[in-house]
Amino acid sequence: MRSWIFGVVLALATGAAAAQAPQEGVDVKKSRLLLLPASTVERSAAQQYSELMRAAAQKDALNNDRREVERLRNIARALIPQSTRFNKDAQRWRWEVNLIRSGNVNAFCMPGGKIAFFTGILDSLRLTDDEVAAIMGHEIAHALLEHGRARMSEQVLKSVGISVAAALLNLGQLSTELLARAADLAVTLPYARKQESDADLVGIELAARAGFDPRAAVNVWQKMQRVATQGAPGQGARGQPPQFLSTHPSHENRIKEIEANLPRVLPLYEGARRQ
Ligand SMILES: [Zn+2]
Repeated sequence: MRSWIFGVVLALATGAAAAQAPQEGVDVKKSRLLLLPASTVERSAAQQYSELMRAAAQKDALNNDRREVERLRNIARALIPQSTRFNKDAQRWRWEVNLIRSGNVNAFCMPGGKIAFFTGILDSLRLTDDEVAAIMGHEIAHALLEHGRARMSEQVLKSVGISVAAALLNLGQLSTELLARAADLAVTLPYARKQESDADLVGIELAARAGFDPRAAVNVWQKMQRVATQGAPGQGARGQPPQFLSTHPSHENRIKEIEANLPRVLPLYEGARRQ
């Protein structure tokens, strides 16, 4: 009897402690409009990605700087094990990380874990490892939250309508061209504001859990805005706005939202650093 009462009291006590403890980690839900199966989206993205890499290799612009490639891959190796927390499928993704020599101030992670950085983003923003992790974490977050899959699904719906799309899907007859066009648009169209905010939050948590300072996300957006208004260092005021900003539109509250969520992820960063 006494032990039973003791058990109840203990359960109540631990329950109360859990309720009072600050929430650890961010609070984000996955995309909803997901007409296309993940496998279809990933296959199509992998094709687009390998075509891009082939084109870069033909121009002798693929992975020329071994040190930078290694740096990117090491950062990815730290972030990737954290990703299954947000999407279990990520465990079977065939992750790739490549560096393309190009003035583009850009980086992306396609559905299925296909990551690319352009030298333009590393050079013009002079990114530290923590800042690379902030950008890579944000990009990986878009893939984990299936924003690309949602956008591809939207594009297919726009081109053929829901009944045709559903019928073609059932018959396994959605054309490769249609999917390729949708995959292409999925990397060139801007993300929605909600998708951007969600990717920011999941990105800082991935970075923090992997042992990178999540506060670096704030620096990245500040640098990005500086380059947009003043041009890259050494280029004077004639620099182009970073391509990254056209697919990842910023808004005035972005930095505030990130800062407001830092207390949720800083303990994870401290914990990761102690290990
Ligand atoms: Zn984004």
